[in-house]
Amino acid sequence: MEFKYVPTTCPYCGTGCGFNLVVKDKKVVGVQPWHRNPVNEGKLCPKGNYAHEFVNAPDRLTKPLIKKDGKFVEASWDEAYKLIAENFKKYQGEQSACLASARVSNEENYLMQKFARAVMKTPNIDHCARLCHASTVVGLAGAFGSGAMTQSIADIAESKCILIIGSNTFEQHPLIGRRVMQAKAKGAKIIYADPRLTATGKQADLYLPFYSGTDVALLNCFMQLILKNGWENKEFIAKRTKDFEKVKEIVMKDTYSPANVAKITGVPEKDIITAAEWFGKSGQSAILYSMGITQHTTGVDNVKSIANLQMLTGNLGRPGTGICALRGQNNVQGACDMGALANVYSGYQSVIVPEMKKKMEDAWGCQIAEGKVGLTVTKLINALADEPGKVKCVYIMGENPMLSDPDLHHVEKGMKNIEFLVVQDIFLTETAQFANVVLPAACYAEKDGTQTSTERRVQRWRKAQDPPGEAKPDWQIFCELAKYMGFEKQFPYKSPEDVFNEIAKVTPSYGGMSYARLEKPEALHWPCPTADHPGTPILHKEKFAHPDGLGIFTPIEWKPPAEVPDKEYPLILTTGRCIWQWHTGTMTRRSPDLEREEPTGWVEINPEDAKALGIKDKERVKAITRRGSIEIGARVTANIRKGEVFMPFHYVECAANILTNNALDPTAAIPEFKACAIRLEKIAGAK
Ligand code: SF4
Repeated sequence: MEFKYVPTTCPYCGTGCGFNLVVKDKKVVGVQPWHRNPVNEGKLCPKGNYAHEFVNAPDRLTKPLIKKDGKFVEASWDEAYKLIAENFKKYQGEQSACLASARVSNEENYLMQKFARAVMKTPNIDHCARLCHASTVVGLAGAFGSGAMTQSIADIAESKCILIIGSNTFEQHPLIGRRVMQAKAKGAKIIYADPRLTATGKQADLYLPFYSGTDVALLNCFMQLILKNGWENKEFIAKRTKDFEKVKEIVMKDTYSPANVAKITGVPEKDIITAAEWFGKSGQSAILYSMGITQHTTGVDNVKSIANLQMLTGNLGRPGTGICALRGQNNVQGACDMGALANVYSGYQSVIVPEMKKKMEDAWGCQIAEGKVGLTVTKLINALADEPGKVKCVYIMGENPMLSDPDLHHVEKGMKNIEFLVVQDIFLTETAQFANVVLPAACYAEKDGTQTSTERRVQRWRKAQDPPGEAKPDWQIFCELAKYMGFEKQFPYKSPEDVFNEIAKVTPSYGGMSYARLEKPEALHWPCPTADHPGTPILHKEKFAHPDGLGIFTPIEWKPPAEVPDKEYPLILTTGRCIWQWHTGTMTRRSPDLEREEPTGWVEINPEDAKALGIKDKERVKAITRRGSIEIGARVTANIRKGEVFMPFHYVECAANILTNNALDPTAAIPEFKACAIRLEKIAGAK
């Protein structure tokens, strides 16, 4: 029996583990460890172990579908392309919008933003980074001039003190959790701040159970204690930063004394003091965070506070230090790098700088969309729902806003207002069901390409099998559709490598990369500006990326979430993932070995709150917010703090995002998924 082993990169979380796809009779049948891969050294979490199971699911899309009289009918590619081109030509300009994808390759994201700007002439291009780490991009770019994770994953093991805040690392990025455990084995102190005592928290040396949305208060208090005790890094502050005094003035206020912050956060005063001491004195402290920090109306404030703390203690640019903003999806970093964002071209080159627009026009050989910031995902949904006619035509690749976005009734209203919707995906998702045309795409196992992990490592995908039926790789669909639109010259690519070579030409941080250089398992970390540059695992070693090389402190006052508990809605709802499922479940729920473990959603509630409401473990309850209600099973557990409840957001049958709030951070436009007011009701006669 002949087996083939094809090395590739995991399509789930942003860790970027490598594995071999096992191929038999030209079909992917399993996953095997790839020991030489430096990210995971042959180890995988459950999702990686079963990353082959959805690939040949029986309901993969295999032919283009066109909606006729409210029903999808199969069509030829020619028929689908003609219909799309006819409509796209009608809606060129700002009446159209494109959503790219954190799941597909760099090459395909690059092509979608090029298609939006060069073919559709619209500035409205964005993707779901807006929903997870837009505040990281804005916050870290503001502080350091670069909006990405500052360290490598392996480097976490060198830390002497790790603060994990707003990240259930062991379940969401398990192979990064492994590096945390390696640091702990060498004596590092682990501090965990989160409203839930998760699998990650259970391994910590100190657990700070704070209320969702009180991050800035906690971080300001740490800074006050560090300054009062003289644990700040005076030399680093003096030589490498500016505006420190402005931050000092804020954090030294009595508002941020341990006694006050204990009241705001719900964390015992003595534990806040211990955490500040461990962190301030270690000399080599790292911070890991994820969406618990970013998904707030104060997401940018939270990120900038983290940057303030690391500049105050000089914990940047050295092994074992830094800010590890853990990216959720496999290629969310890459989709941002490729310019699938409303405000930048690839490499974060601003659309409002005329020279950048000219650079792209020269490279692409055509006029492109006006150099202005387009609609973000969140603003696009608002426009569709509340200003019908502003945007009439939407092209979505590999995204599922009908489950992933906040306030789903509002999203549905927007979807129904679209005059012409094209969805390109591997399954008929909740969003695809609203489409006029659905295009069947190839998945990660069926095409070559690259993706960029959370540590800025650009890694290869390698084709292991053919796509099912007539499905095609997204990059090929763009090339063919561009031809029907009259833009064949702009999309001349014969392979993903051709696309990558263009990316390297127009994107300075990828400028020295090529498929040949990425062939090795180590691949390359950006920035890698020239062909002889070794890549950059640690950022900001000598200076920050601002023109003057200095890091910028920003004074931040704590603000509560947009919606706080009251008499009618007395609890706080926070949402997240579980280890077995991923995002909107499109792939994991078609993976039998994963789906079996957590086949539906639940709401976690503290025993005291449950008792007061007469709710028993496993009982069905009604969860109600100002935006809607769902029925869901209760899990009564002391692992969540009193006053707060938690739901995973993967499950369409009890969709947590019917309940969440779409209030936005004012600069990053990220919604506040992580805190809103909620009421739970016992359902009469429920079991
Ligand atoms: Fe895949 Fe992330 Fe698990 Fe690694 S940690 S195997 S990248 S899901």
